[in-house]
Amino acid sequence: METKKLEELKKSLQEEKKDLEENLKKIAKPINIQEGDYETSFEDIGTDKNDSATEVDQYTQNLSVESSLEKKLQNVLDALEKIEKGNYGKCEKCGKDIPLERLVANPSARICMDCS
Ligand SMILES: [Zn+2]
Repeated sequence: METKKLEELKKSLQEEKKDLEENLKKIAKPINIQEGDYETSFEDIGTDKNDSATEVDQYTQNLSVESSLEKKLQNVLDALEKIEKGNYGKCEKCGKDIPLERLVANPSARICMDCS
């Protein structure tokens, strides 16, 4: 892959990482930033019954949002790590190069179209 293209993809991955981290920080506390590991925070808004029900609802909602953001972030981190190691853009299943168009559309893609 051309260095210039790779730099562009790296840049969009870094932007995505920043966005994901910002969104995660709103609902979770970081356990391990390097590994993209977060824990959903439980917000204590009050002590009466209704407050507690709202807290639980909010927490349940945050849990699912947090886990999907965390998954995306880990994909992005993996992709950035691959760029560093020089094995970025290879399908994890068949080992072929993932077409550039696919990487542009989704820079953290792990597998090619044929394998997905
Ligand atoms: Zn493949």
